[in-house]
Amino acid sequence: MPLRETAQKLPPEQYEKNFADITPPMNARQAAIEASRCLYCFDAPCLIACPTRIDVPGFIKRIMTGNVRGAARVILEANILGESCGRVCPTEVLCEGACVMVEKGERAIEIGRLQRYAVDHVLDRGIQLFHAGAPNGRKVACIGSGPASLACAAELARRGYGVTIFDRNELPGGLNTYGIAAYKTRATDSLREVETVKALGVELRQKMEVGRDIGFQQLEKDFDAIFIGVGLGETWAMDIPGADLPGVYRAIEFIERTKTLPFEEIPVGRRVACVGAGNTAIDVVTAARRLGAETVHLIYRRSEKEMSAFPYEHELAKKDGVNFLWQTQPVRVIGSSGGVTGLECTRTRLGAPDARGRRAPEPLPNSNFTIDVDMVVGAVGQKPVTDFLRQVKGIELRKNGTVVTDEKHRTGHPKYLAGGDCVNGGAEVVDAVAEGMAAARSMDSWLAASAGAPRGPMRVEN
Ligand SMILES: Cc1cc2nc3c(=O)[nH]c(=O)nc-3n(C[C@H](O)[C@H](O)[C@H](O)COP(=O)(O)OP(=O)(O)OC[C@H]3O[C@@H](n4cnc5c(N)ncnc54)[C@H](O)[C@@H]3O)c2cc1C
Ligand code: SF4
Repeated sequence: MPLRETAQKLPPEQYEKNFADITPPMNARQAAIEASRCLYCFDAPCLIACPTRIDVPGFIKRIMTGNVRGAARVILEANILGESCGRVCPTEVLCEGACVMVEKGERAIEIGRLQRYAVDHVLDRGIQLFHAGAPNGRKVACIGSGPASLACAAELARRGYGVTIFDRNELPGGLNTYGIAAYKTRATDSLREVETVKALGVELRQKMEVGRDIGFQQLEKDFDAIFIGVGLGETWAMDIPGADLPGVYRAIEFIERTKTLPFEEIPVGRRVACVGAGNTAIDVVTAARRLGAETVHLIYRRSEKEMSAFPYEHELAKKDGVNFLWQTQPVRVIGSSGGVTGLECTRTRLGAPDARGRRAPEPLPNSNFTIDVDMVVGAVGQKPVTDFLRQVKGIELRKNGTVVTDEKHRTGHPKYLAGGDCVNGGAEVVDAVAEGMAAARSMDSWLAASAGAPRGPMRVEN
């Protein structure tokens, strides 16, 4: 896509510096010191705050006593994607946010970094802690290879199921590979984690879009049950004139490049505007700055108070020198086939609260102004691409496209269960993992009960 002006290229080492880990790995000494700060609370609020219920005090105690492999086993037993969660979990609002140290006015235990330390310890050494269960003769298909499906597949493989994952992308891992900010996790980290699931005997079939390359009838014929973990799909397009001009991107389209291309090859404007104020918008503006864009504006029609990004993500963008335009709404993108030249905006005032209690923005008359930009990115939310599931009788979709399930992750069709973003409407990796693992357990109970057979034992190596 042509950009009127692109950011100046940086030296390769500068890109690496800009996208270096924001929570760098710990060494053994740092991990031991941090682990020794833990109070091992008996009611463990950190455990309750973790959607996968990792025994946090249990794994931290093992690190402190030098049993790092044992610590990794505790983590991975509860959360097979403990590697990515240790890197990407918004710990401030989950386990670390619940740490009693915070109440005491002290720094929370760095649970995410300790988790990463333990899991990296086994992955770096190629230690495979878990193995496939004795085959029980049953087969399951997972649609999508994101965190939800990977977690579901791993749990089933450990119980003796033959699992095949179908994914439309070239690389597996879903948004762990293609979406999450490169300064939190790289595609290579995600792919390494996928290998641990493959080592359980799970088959991955990439570039296979269900509904196009393989039909539901075929899946139902070949498999005893099917897990749907298709995520959300696309970013909504901005509904303003000029949104189709070259130089206007959708958030995921831009972010995907930061995960799959060398940084120096990613086209980025000299001046960038991003519309939206959620966590994805923060990923866009911080990536644009780190790629060398001189001016980056974040445009939001409500006030700073109403932005949906987590406070620490907001802080990150402030530190990166992003310019925030609050109570500002885009009206049209200005430009031609040669690229974008500007974004016309209007100021807003906040009216009565909407259904979610947020005050509705109204354009202020005669307040239009134009900002000079070369690139506009829309980060105005993601939509589920689930229409293709309507082909399956019994599967019900909500108005917003998410899949309806019961508390056991079952859809209205007995063979299909679902979990992750396509059900919860977009949450965190750890939620997708929790739902994928719970769906696997539910599927196992149902299949075992319907066959009247005992469930395959799980083999765990100590
Ligand atoms: C930009 C961005 C940044 C994020 N940052 C964070 C973060 O820092 N921390 C955090 O915890 N969470 C973050 N999240 C959220 C997190 O990535 C998701 O909650 C999580 O990936 C959901 O997992 P999932 O398996 O449900 O879906 P996905 O990861 O979206 O995976 C779905 C998979 O299904 C495949 N698929 C879709 N349709 C089909 C089909 N018909 N046939 C075959 N395959 C199909 C897709 O190719 C994809 O691989 C972020 C999300 C975004 C968009
Ligand atoms: S998985 Fe995430 S929320 Fe759970 S303990 Fe680990 S870092 Fe915290």
